[in-house]
Amino acid sequence: MAERVCRCLLREQDSTRPLYEIIQDYLDTLPENQRADDQLYQARLNLCRDCTELRNGTCVLCGCYVEARAAKRSMSCPMVPPRWEKE
Ligand code: SF4
Repeated sequence: MAERVCRCLLREQDSTRPLYEIIQDYLDTLPENQRADDQLYQARLNLCRDCTELRNGTCVLCGCYVEARAAKRSMSCPMVPPRWEKE
């Protein structure tokens, strides 16, 4: 829920909250016109899931949590060539 979003570091968050909940809070704040639709989002995440660069939800090429990176339409995969493109 958006009201739980704060300007703070992960280490300053309530440590009992799972990271995916914190990322979900971020996703909830993305404006609709910047957000990948569900079909695009799932297609991107499926490609990340099969990628050798994925470690515990993080892309080792860019350091992003892929569930956050893939949610923005304007983002692309950092691999050369990219496994998924910006929209
Ligand atoms: S963003 Fe690209 S390089 Fe990173 S894990 Fe996903 S598919 Fe792999």
